[in-house]
Amino acid sequence: MPFKVMELPYTTDALEPFLSKETLEFHYGKHYKNYVATLNKLTKGSRLEQMALEAVILENAHQDNAIFHNAAQAWNHEFLWKSMSPEKNKPTSTILSILQSQFGSRREFEDRFLAAATDLFGSGWVWVVKESDGSVSIEALSNAGSPITRGKVPLLVCDVWEHAYYLDYQNDRFQYLKNFLQVLDWNFLELNYTSGNRFMVNRFRESFQKSQYI
Ligand code: MN
Repeated sequence: MPFKVMELPYTTDALEPFLSKETLEFHYGKHYKNYVATLNKLTKGSRLEQMALEAVILENAHQDNAIFHNAAQAWNHEFLWKSMSPEKNKPTSTILSILQSQFGSRREFEDRFLAAATDLFGSGWVWVVKESDGSVSIEALSNAGSPITRGKVPLLVCDVWEHAYYLDYQNDRFQYLKNFLQVLDWNFLELNYTSGNRFMVNRFRESFQKSQYI
């Protein structure tokens, strides 16, 4: 059974003016769908086809092979679509108090996020993650990097591959990142923080049935 393309949770023009319809049409319609299609080609007829996407990622992470790249890129993009929202929302007091105790303030958290994303050399992803001790941290990972291979719970992600912003921002990654902070979905972050252990897949399980994840 092939891996399915996730439906975009909003229309392709819903994030304007932060991201143009053209950018999302390319990003969702071409880049993301191509990762899923390539993964399906690479896993066709194998036992991987029957596994959950997270399990495919975990099982192939150490080989850093094409299956890992395409599976992780598919997963990362699905997480990205949910990390943004056309409806402006604010962090609740629960999240604010976590940010205050860990970073000093929401502003400091956002500055650290911007710095991590700006400093990431080349293509990759900037993640907000929950560590095993419950603390929140920011991690920039190159290429198809995924926190689930490091035993961390992903809370939110920003795509800093050039294809995510180049049509709208050209080389101005910093402005793209600042605008990203305006559309990030704090509700999604909190939902993952409070229910996050569903991502902590047991690395030693051989395989399991496909399951729906957030
Ligand atoms: Mn992308």
